[in-house]
This record gives sequence, C-alpha cells and structure tokens, in this order.
Amino acid sequence: AKSVGRDTYCFFEASMNASIHQQLLLMQDLRVAIQRRELVLYYQPKFTAHEGSVVGIEALVCWEHPERGMIPPDEFIPLAEKTNMIMPLGAWVLDEACRQLAEWRRERHVEWTLSVNLSAVQFRHASLVDTVRGALHRHALDPGWLTLEITESTAMRDADASLHILQQLHEMGVCISIDDFGTGYSSLLYLQRLPATELKIDRGFVRDLAHDTEDAAIVSAIVALWRSLNLSVVAEGVETTEQKSFLTALGCHSLQGYLLGKPMRADVLDQFMQPGG
Ligand code: C2E
Ligand code: CA
Ligand code: CA
Ligand code: CA
Repeated sequence: AKSVGRDTYCFFEASMNASIHQQLLLMQDLRVAIQRRELVLYYQPKFTAHEGSVVGIEALVCWEHPERGMIPPDEFIPLAEKTNMIMPLGAWVLDEACRQLAEWRRERHVEWTLSVNLSAVQFRHASLVDTVRGALHRHALDPGWLTLEITESTAMRDADASLHILQQLHEMGVCISIDDFGTGYSSLLYLQRLPATELKIDRGFVRDLAHDTEDAAIVSAIVALWRSLNLSVVAEGVETTEQKSFLTALGCHSLQGYLLGKPMRADVLDQFMQPGG
C-alpha cells in the first residue's frame, strides 16, 4: 500500500510540474500575443426584457493561439493577473472595444453602450482612471456610453480602495456594473454605497430558476431590492424561453444569453444586427 501511495504521489507531482511548465510557456506566449494580434474581442449583445431591443454589447476577450487554438479567458486571465500582464492586456481590451463602439456608432448610428470587464488587479492600480479616460478620449466617446463590469467579489475585496476608484470613475460619468452578483457575500449596506447603476445576476441563479423555488425567491428579492434603489437589473446566461419569461415576469430590465445572442466577432455581430437578418 505504501508503494502505491508513493507512486501516486510521484504521478501527482509529475503532472503538477507539467501543468506549471505549461503555464510558464503560455505566459511567455501571452507577452507577445497582443503584438501578434492574437487576442480577439467577441461581443455579446444585451437586450431589453420587454421590447427585446439591443441596448448594449459586452466585450469578451479570447486568445486565438497559433498552435493551441482558441483559449477562453478563464484560462489566461488568471495567469495574466499573476504576472501583471493584465495591465497591458486590460488596456488593450478597453482601447479596442472603445474603437469598435466608436465605429459602430459612427457607421451604423446605433445607440448601444459598451460593457468592458475589469479584473481585480486592474482595480488596485489608481492608473486605471487615466487608462479609461485616455481610451474614451482617443475614440471621442461619451463616458456615459461605457460601463465597467466588476465582480461582486472584486468590489468587496478592498472595499475602501475600491470605493475611491469607483467614485472617480463615476464622477467621470462612466457607469459601473456589479457582475456575477449573488456569488459573493456583500453586505447590502456596502452595496448601497457603491456608485453602481447596474447589477448582473450570476447565471448560476438563472440556470434552474424555473424549477428551483429557492433560486426563484432569491432572484425575485434581488430584483425587487435593486428596483427600489432605482438600479437596472440584468440577468445573464439566459438559455431557454422559459427562463426568459420567468425573468421578465420577475421584473428584470435586461437579458443576456445564448438564447438571444451568443458572443460574436464584430463582423458577425454586424450581420446579426442587419435588419431582418
Ligand atoms: P462574465 O463577465 O461573467 O462573462 C459571461 C460569460 O458567460 C462569457 O464567457 C460568455 O461567453 C458566457 N455566456 C454568455 N451567455 C451564456 C449562456 O447563455 N450560457 C452559458 N453557459 N454561458 C454564457 P467567457 O467569454 O468564457 O468569459 C468568462 C469570463 O472571463 C467572463 O465572465 C469574465 O469574468 C472574464 N473575462 C472575459 N473577458 C475579459 C476581459 O476582457 N477582461 C477581464 N478582466 N476579464 C474578462
Ligand atoms: Ca461580465
Ligand atoms: Ca457574469
Ligand atoms: Ca464569471
């Protein structure tokens, strides 16, 4: 039994080394990924619950690795965060997304707003405020057209510092959205102090909504509370018509999910939005 234990241990260690090795390789690649234009933004539309019209788009980054193919953000954002690569990466995402929105507004006369995800690490640097201001200025965008999404846990982590940066962004006119809501344990008192205008209910609550009475009760309470604070509630991960009608009945303002529109490359979204197409 002892030798089995040791073999198991050795095997475990070997595979762990392999994965650390993999991560190091990936990190090296990530350094040049931006210059090589391997990072691509996908855009997922956000719809009003009642009329079903597009009100905004969320930019989601993806890595088209020349050898490994598509790498989803969950696999390289945490790596980028560990190495501070998230700073140039995040600045690129912001600039590219702003460029694209400016193009859409100019050429298609849409009134969409743009949502960009921020990592907790970006949020710890006061330079974020200048990075945001710079991107808006370069592409002549109204600050009110930009929404920055931070997760509930990011907002909670260093509450006072977060609040200070959020306030500066808010004063600039940028909108703040609390992403993945319901996965953290924020106090309502603190949430109420945040200058947020939107809250996104985590898709974990949306999944079984129609069958799980507890999830339904939680969502219903969140919507009621946030509506009373005059804030907009978005549900993400809407995959079925059943979820859609449930969320609409509960009073969600906007919906996002595969049912209504998947994340798409800019040219595909162009097609998708063609009248009648
Ligand atoms: P998120 O901000 O919660 O983004 C929503 C994720 O859910 C996206 O995954 C999207 O493709 C997926 N999704 C959308 N609709 C549905 C649906 O109906 N069903 C299901 N099952 N999934 C749906 P993605 O693109 O893999 O992104 C994962 C996470 O990576 C994002 O979660 C966000 O936290 C992070 N991320 C993405 N882009 C960026 C970025 O530019 N910067 C930072 N810091 N994080 C990013
Ligand atoms: Ca998001
Ligand atoms: Ca989310
Ligand atoms: Ca998430």
